[in-house]
This record gives sequence, C-alpha cells and structure tokens, in this order.
Amino acid sequence: MRNRDPAVGYNLAMAIPSQTSPPIPSVLSGLEGIRTWVEDFYRDLHEHPELSHREVRTADKVARRLEAAGISVHEGVGGTGVVGLLRNGEGPTVLLRADMDALPVAEATGLSYASREVATDSDGKEVSVMHACGHDIHVACLLGAAHLLASHPEAWAGSVAFVFQPAEETADGARAMVESGLAGLLPRIDVALAQHVLPAPAGVVGTHAGPTLSAADSLRITVFGRGAHGSMPQASIDPVVLAAMIVVRLQTVVARETRPGEPVVLTVGKLQAGTKTNVISDHAVIEVNIRTYSPETRRAVLEAIHRIVDGECQASGSPKPATYELFDQFPLTDNDPDATTRVSEAFGAFFGERAVVVPALSGSEDFSDIPNALGAPYCYWGIGGTDPELYRKAEEAGRVFEQVPVNHSALFAPVMQPTLDTGIQTLVVAALAWLGDPAPGASGRGRA
Ligand code: ZN
Ligand code: ZN
Repeated sequence: MRNRDPAVGYNLAMAIPSQTSPPIPSVLSGLEGIRTWVEDFYRDLHEHPELSHREVRTADKVARRLEAAGISVHEGVGGTGVVGLLRNGEGPTVLLRADMDALPVAEATGLSYASREVATDSDGKEVSVMHACGHDIHVACLLGAAHLLASHPEAWAGSVAFVFQPAEETADGARAMVESGLAGLLPRIDVALAQHVLPAPAGVVGTHAGPTLSAADSLRITVFGRGAHGSMPQASIDPVVLAAMIVVRLQTVVARETRPGEPVVLTVGKLQAGTKTNVISDHAVIEVNIRTYSPETRRAVLEAIHRIVDGECQASGSPKPATYELFDQFPLTDNDPDATTRVSEAFGAFFGERAVVVPALSGSEDFSDIPNALGAPYCYWGIGGTDPELYRKAEEAGRVFEQVPVNHSALFAPVMQPTLDTGIQTLVVAALAWLGDPAPGASGRGRA
C-alpha cells in the first residue's frame, strides 16, 4: 500500500499499474476459466441496460447464473433485487453487494456492444438508456466472484451473501431491499463489502478508512409572497426578491459557518418563480443540493438553511411560513476502520503497489443503508476502469479531467480488462480476509 498525493486528478488516479507477482489464493486459480463468460455476460449487460427499479432482465440473468453455480437464490427483494446465499460450514458471513441499474444517457462510446436501448422514464418521457456508471461491471464481477467461491468450497469456510441491488442511482434501492425483509433472508452479517468502478487506471484498487462518500440531501423549499400586478409592487410581497436574497445568503453557509478544510457543498440547483413579466408571483421554489461528510456538519448546514430561509421570509413579511421537503437522500458512506484495515492489508498483499490508499471519493452511494440496517461494519472501495495508457497520457498532458471520460458521461467506457479480472479479485481477496484460506487439502467443509 502507499499513500499518494491527493491533490492530483481523480482520487483513485494516482498509480499506474505495474507487474506484481502476488500469492494467488486457490479460489482465484479458476479465474482464467471463467473469463470468457464473464466478459460475454458484461457485454450483454452493457448492451441491454435498464433504468432504476426496472432491472427485470438483468435480475433474471443474475438469478439464473447464481443458480447455475449452485447458490440458493431469492428474487424480487425490494422490487428487482436478487439475493444469493452460499453456505459453506461454520464461519463468518460476508455480504458482497453490486448495484444493477443504468442511467438515462444516450451512449456515445462507439463500442461494438454499445447500448441502443430506449425506455420510458418515471415521468413518461422516452429516454435512451446506458450503463454510464459501470454497474454492469459490478454485476459481472460479483457473479464471477460468486462462481469462484462456489467452485472452491475447500478453500474457505463460512457463508457469503451476494446482494444484487436495484436502483442505486435513485438512492432508494438499498432501502427497498431492507424494507422488503432482506435481514430475514440472511444469517447475521459480519461484514458488508462493495466496490465501484471509477475513472482511474484499470488494475488499480483504492481504499479509504472513515467517511468515504458524502451524504447527499436534496431540499425543496417553497417560500410565499403575495401575488399582484407587475405595475403595483406596493400590493405585493415579491417572492422573486425574497428567493434571490435567500440564494445569496445561502452562499455564506459554507463560507462562514463550516470548518475550513472540511468538504461541504451547498448548491442551489433550481430556482423557479413566476410566469410572466407583468405578474408578481405568489410563491417561489428553491431546490438545494447538500453534500457533507459528517452527521454533525449535515445537521448544522440543514439548520443554517432553515434559519436563513425563515429569517428572510420574516424580513420580507412573508404571509405564511416556508415549507421544506427533503428528497433524493443518500446516506454517508463511513468505512469501518477495522474492516478497512483488513481489506487494505489483503489488497496490499495481493495487488502490491496496485493497491493504494486514497482520499475520500466524490459522489454518494446508498450501499451503507444495507449494513446500517443489518448492524454490520462495512468497507466500500474503488477500482480503476480507464485504459492505463490513455490515463497515463492524459496525466502527462495535465488533462485528466478533459481526456478521461467520467462516470455518467455518454463516453464512459471502462476497458474490459484488467477491469473485470481486478473487480473479481478484489471481491474474492476481501471476502477471504474474513472467510480464511485453509491450506490445500483441508476437507470436511462441504456446502451446507
Ligand atoms: Zn452513478
Ligand atoms: Zn454508480
């Protein structure tokens, strides 16, 4: 493992893969034998992406693959969620999770297996669909890992829960699985693990202990005025001016109320009022996106917003209190320090200098809703998916952000290898850090 300067490029982007000769756990000896179908499966998923909560075809293919590996399967968990459970004698239980959904993005990668799918979104609008966040990589890697663990019961002991989650992009798929009784399907979970493919050199894996992905909140604020003719401001309480004051004053929350150096984002992403120049509207809607890395800061920022909005409403003589509606909320991803140390050490031993310690990643995830509901510690890490050569050239030119397509871009196209191999290896290596790797020949551990 090594620490890298966090100031350059993407967080996970600081190491170019180099050759290492790690000791290969016997479970991974079968990797070569499954590579072809894993790649085929990935290409097929990439070509046939499905929007959040609509992962019907994907879920079916996942369930059939798990069954083919001899793993017991529950389908329809939280909508389209799939849970596989592999029991292999006494020992800890490790939960491995992959998300399955795609995005309303028109693919522009030019790949031979690019998506041409079109679907109707939740607003009834026809949209192109693309695996622009790499969840197809996550699914293919978890299936590969499941197959390898199921094929080598002699090399480990315990149980593994394979959780294929719907609707990460809408922040509610993990919660849907929890609410539909995920806990009742599983033994007590000792650790939960998940990963994400990122714009960093393929072959690199990055871990971070503690707060790793921000909590995200979206807040819809409606403020009220008194409508009037545009020529008679004296008869109005103008919500446009009121909203404008609020937007300006909200800029002081991060600048003046949070600790310097602590990452906090407060963005007014949407501001709507009025219909016509000569009509003073009677209300305005302000939508705010908030990203924080600690529950204390999150609470302080939300309180500051309420205070500022209520204060400005009072200053304007608003006829009734503002209303607040939270939506699209992602929990904080706060990696357990002990679990992360265990994963990082296992990665360091296996991947050598391709395993790096990284700063907190940008973005948000709903994965932690699962371990939080199950009372389990967790570790979430990143794997690179960018062609290492492309990445190296972009880095040399100082143009990583311009030249390396990022998640959610229409050009996001992880290279299949070594991305898929690496994503399978990470899951197996991390799981074995709990499930042990008994010496070859250890027996009496048939599947229960
Ligand atoms: Zn995404
Ligand atoms: Zn994603």
